[in-house]
Amino acid sequence: MVDIECAACGTDEHLRGNRLDDDTIELTCERCGATWVRDPRPSCPKCGGHELEAAPKVIVEKSRGSQMSIQGIQREFLCRVCDDELIRARRDGYLPDRLPGSQ
Ligand SMILES: [Zn+2]
Ligand SMILES: [Zn+2]
Repeated sequence: MVDIECAACGTDEHLRGNRLDDDTIELTCERCGATWVRDPRPSCPKCGGHELEAAPKVIVEKSRGSQMSIQGIQREFLCRVCDDELIRARRDGYLPDRLPGSQ
């Protein structure tokens, strides 16, 4: 695990994670015995809720005229409450009809 360290003693090497029923993780520091709960789920910046779903976001860039080229696919989290329409639009087809190089 990265980016997690014990708030009490600062170690990042002696941590034990235990996933709880609600998808949070209870961490135990085996060095100093501290325990705390970490919520690994992303939260919505708008409503603070956890009803998010990961949606692929295609990064396209205009090259030469009207031709679009795909620069990559990013994962972003959409809120099921705030971004409901967007999520549905993405499900209908987030990819351009044709990928460059394919027929
Ligand atoms: Zn500790
Ligand atoms: Zn939201």
